[in-house]
Amino acid sequence: MSDIILEKKVDVKISKCEKFRNLFDFSSKDLIIQKCTVFNNSLFEQTQSFVVIHSNTDTELNESLVLLKLIKTNDIFYVSYSVNLWYVIESMPIYKLSEGDLIKISNYKFRIRQLIRTNSALNLHQEMYVPVNIQYPNLVCKFCSLNHNEKSNPLFCPCNCNDTIVHLECYHKWINSSLYLFDIFDDSYIYTPVICDVCNSIYPTRIIMNQLKIVLIDLPNIEPPIIILENIIKEPNDFKGHAKTGFHIISLANKSVKLGRNHDCNVRIPDVSISKCHAFIHYDKNEFIIEDNKSQFGTFVKCQTRKNIQLFDNSEIHISVGQYCFSLTQS
Ligand SMILES: [Zn+2]
Ligand SMILES: [Zn+2]
Repeated sequence: MSDIILEKKVDVKISKCEKFRNLFDFSSKDLIIQKCTVFNNSLFEQTQSFVVIHSNTDTELNESLVLLKLIKTNDIFYVSYSVNLWYVIESMPIYKLSEGDLIKISNYKFRIRQLIRTNSALNLHQEMYVPVNIQYPNLVCKFCSLNHNEKSNPLFCPCNCNDTIVHLECYHKWINSSLYLFDIFDDSYIYTPVICDVCNSIYPTRIIMNQLKIVLIDLPNIEPPIIILENIIKEPNDFKGHAKTGFHIISLANKSVKLGRNHDCNVRIPDVSISKCHAFIHYDKNEFIIEDNKSQFGTFVKCQTRKNIQLFDNSEIHISVGQYCFSLTQS
């Protein structure tokens, strides 16, 4: 008898839930579930009532109705990259975070700005290069109204407003007094960048002058490992404190970061769509690991490698696209 070579296939389970503020309710008892097995390229199209599966991925469809595309190359399946895909963290055995990752809990988004494993500098904003020998004949320092210009204390333009110049020393004093830090504890604080009212650029806190790197602000010392989460959402005005735009700077030395609605959370979001204890970030074996705490509206990390996502045999992956959740297993 000759060997039978089985072609690879993917078992697909598609769950859909009714809308609550555009969120997928993982606790819902009324999920609409569709199951199928595909053996080749497949395109999943959203329709009014259910998902239609096309075997020809070149089918001309309105892009907004395409939920997911599976591509088979050399007997391996890939999920075609698209901007709308999010990994569902609840179902992942382990998800290691990387700098630049975008995480979403319910509808609130945070960028992983920096992951600090050992003592290294906080990298909150880009460094600004300060030239030392530029003359500004008709301008004066915004703070002291003088225009002396020395190598050790040069005049420079700190934002995109071309008519604003400052002395480095005047600016240094000002940026320190304008710093907005709140919720300062031994192991965490929230930092809000200082932004120019006119041009909206972030004022620099680190500069390079005469090839020297100079840090202009003093931030509280906390023990590494440290995670910096940038809150990238614009909150409604009635949201106070913790949910403002800014950076959560949190030590993970001997503890996990807790995200949720409860008062004891390190990142607290007072919104009913957020579970009391929604998600954790742990530090384990040099890695920052995110874990969902069986939250109602889920924890997600954006698929943003801009590459197709390879499926591995018998390893299920879970991807959320809008109102749908796809579970995919290749075998
Ligand atoms: Zn000055
Ligand atoms: Zn400006």
